[in-house]
Amino acid sequence: MSKNKAPKNHVFYRNQNWHYPQIERGEGIYLYDKDGRKYIDGCSGSAVANIGHGNKEVAEFAKQHIERIAFTHLSRWTVDSIEKCAEKIANWAPGDLNHVYFVSGGSEATETALKMARQYFVERDGKNTSKWKVISKWNSFHGNTMGALSMTGIVGRRKPYDPILINFPKIPQFYHYRNPWGCETLEETSIMAAKALEEEILRQGPENVAAFITEPVVGSAAPGVHPEKIYFKMVREICDKYDILLIVDEVMAGFGRTGKKFAVNHYDIVPDIIACAKGMSCGYTPIGATIANDKVFNTIMVEGSGHFIHGHTYAGNPLSCGIAYKVMEIIEREGYVENAAEQGEYLMNKLKELYKYPIVGDIRGKGLMIGIEFVKDKDTKEPFDTAVGLKNRITVNSLEEGLVVYPGGGSVDGVRGDHILIAPPINITKEEIDELFNALEKGIEKTCEEVL
Ligand code: PLP
Repeated sequence: MSKNKAPKNHVFYRNQNWHYPQIERGEGIYLYDKDGRKYIDGCSGSAVANIGHGNKEVAEFAKQHIERIAFTHLSRWTVDSIEKCAEKIANWAPGDLNHVYFVSGGSEATETALKMARQYFVERDGKNTSKWKVISKWNSFHGNTMGALSMTGIVGRRKPYDPILINFPKIPQFYHYRNPWGCETLEETSIMAAKALEEEILRQGPENVAAFITEPVVGSAAPGVHPEKIYFKMVREICDKYDILLIVDEVMAGFGRTGKKFAVNHYDIVPDIIACAKGMSCGYTPIGATIANDKVFNTIMVEGSGHFIHGHTYAGNPLSCGIAYKVMEIIEREGYVENAAEQGEYLMNKLKELYKYPIVGDIRGKGLMIGIEFVKDKDTKEPFDTAVGLKNRITVNSLEEGLVVYPGGGSVDGVRGDHILIAPPINITKEEIDELFNALEKGIEKTCEEVL
């Protein structure tokens, strides 16, 4: 029988109607395709390439490390790069988040956090503990593996898998622009969103709830959305009151992106567990981590069984750990976290000029993690019909101007919302921000001409 050949596209990821420029190389904030066209990487891939492309110091380090060792399994050996990386992350993380469980990416990090929370209660209270539910939010993204997707609140991503997902409770996001309570200020929305957690815990019964997970600044589900400080203060108190672990998903926001080492530092609280990835190695190799506080670590590893029943082959890959360490060293030495704060403020002030366009509904973010939401009608906040494909138009029109932005969004009904994420490398300069802004404005102008 002849083999039924699929269309020529062998990479099982792509949108068949999309043109994918072939990238030859990158340098700093720029990418160059094989025809020599230059693009500003305005979203660092997906908030990954935080120190930019083509970093020679990282390349030299990687070469030397690869020449030294290919792989060792964490269950049998250790390597200096693993020890140094874990120590540095523990130093970067707030409070007593001192214990680093290595994984290979963001979904593994949140999935690990979920299992860690469950095992914490099993070790503490015995195997019959009823604490297993993880409360999460609509308009959130925690990854695509089954546990992570069960916590994710983007309906469109969940739909095909609904019957096989874990039925975790969901509450509303601190999404002020579309808040369900009719709040007029972000402060009020933040308070209502925190109260919604307490109500849900009581509805579920605190004895059944193991953890609450939240992004500190929302990524792809509603880019740039964030609460006021009061939200995290209340959430921390509520979690403590009902004996529930607080997991903060820093996969996109961590490692300097928002102008702090971890975004949760904006809110002056310490969670029990942080999940992170992306900017941890800035894309030079895949790696992620789940960072536990002393309480969680000691309960499982010191006073408990001493064995977290989990693990992936590439956990603690020596090269990835080495690169993550190197990247953190560079970020510290070059002051890139401070740069993200400074340039983020500059970029945000410039972006606010875009409110003059009738399709720009909301601009929000922290540091260099900024989202723009587009609407058909500013007064009613009515979004464009999905058939218009607004966010894809913005993406394509910006690309024609030499700027890469990341389309996001997906609200409760799974179809509403056209957002883009602006998240350039955190070593970007003012001049480069001006260039980014000009290209984006032209992309928006062209989109207005097409749809209005
Ligand atoms: N959590 C957040 C907040 C994310 O933004 C992402 C990815 O965008 C993930 C989890 C999943 O990470 P990964 O794609 O590395 O599995």
